Amino acid sequence: MVVIVKQTATKAQLDTFLQWVYDMGLKPHLSEGAGTTIVGLVGDTTKLDENHVRSISIVEDVKRVSEPYKSTNRKIHPEDTHISIGGTSVGEGSLAVIAGPCSVESEEQIIQVAKAVKASGATMLRGGAFKPRTSPYAFQGLRAEGIELLIKARAATGLPIVTEIMNIEHIPLFEDVDLIQVGARNMQNFELLRELGHLKKPILLKRGLANTLEELLMSAEYIVAGGNRHVILCERGIRTYETATRNTLDLSAVPFLKARSHLPVVVDPSHACGVAWMVPSLAKAAVAVGADGLLIEVHNQPEKALSDGAQSLRPEQFAEMMQQLRPLAELMGKKMT
Ligand code: PEP
Ligand code: MN
Repeated sequence: MVVIVKQTATKAQLDTFLQWVYDMGLKPHLSEGAGTTIVGLVGDTTKLDENHVRSISIVEDVKRVSEPYKSTNRKIHPEDTHISIGGTSVGEGSLAVIAGPCSVESEEQIIQVAKAVKASGATMLRGGAFKPRTSPYAFQGLRAEGIELLIKARAATGLPIVTEIMNIEHIPLFEDVDLIQVGARNMQNFELLRELGHLKKPILLKRGLANTLEELLMSAEYIVAGGNRHVILCERGIRTYETATRNTLDLSAVPFLKARSHLPVVVDPSHACGVAWMVPSLAKAAVAVGADGLLIEVHNQPEKALSDGAQSLRPEQFAEMMQQLRPLAELMGKKMT
């Protein structure tokens, strides 16, 4: 962190500030130019609040020169993190494909979709049991029963199951879930993130609707610093002024996150564009920019889906997309099952 000192600062004020830096467990590096005095704060500044430093009377401006995240930072852990989930490994030379309906709706539906996506090479089954819906009158999910149905679908196909958590109190219900999803709307539910940091279970952390990549990494930091290194980051589109698509898929998130962090990164083109016909193109683009996996909504009858039907692929469309992805994944050095 670099601090620019106001020209009006007296020697006594500067000395008090330098002592404060020492008291914070850091070393000040003083550089006095003709008109400007700069103090470099050397050491671990992650615990230092930039705005607090800015509020000190002799401080003109503050610049962070190192990232505020530590446990998720590639500089500190240069090796890629591999996450094993029910026999598959995410981030280890393979393309993880998490597929399934937005919501678990019935036993017949989830088992049918699970069998279909498995046949096309999906590596995990997704399905929402607790659904975060904008309208309180919309289908809210089958809740605990939805998780039971996912467990049945796993028994029928062998696919590990992925489902979203919305509330700390529900953690015990997720005991038998293979990968716990934190949805976009809960990316900054810090109490929930803190609790998930105490679990041994892998977490799929989706980027918030209007959050920066640094904020996503800081949210992952809550989980990883808490002791759970098994975090997968997910880019799912962000709110912009564009209305042609449901959200705007920020593909630059993939190379950025992979450069800054050691955690695997997956892309969800379904929630990004909101329309089924665009999903295969965006999925291919995601593979081409180096994503470690994809999250794709698939429904056996999209026109009857209780949520997100418009963006759900039919099983045969999913099968076709998977075929198109194979040569691309190979080119990127990623195996598909
Ligand atoms: C979902 O995966 O069904 C979902 C609700 O996603 P998001 O949190 O990205 O909106
Ligand atoms: Mn959905």
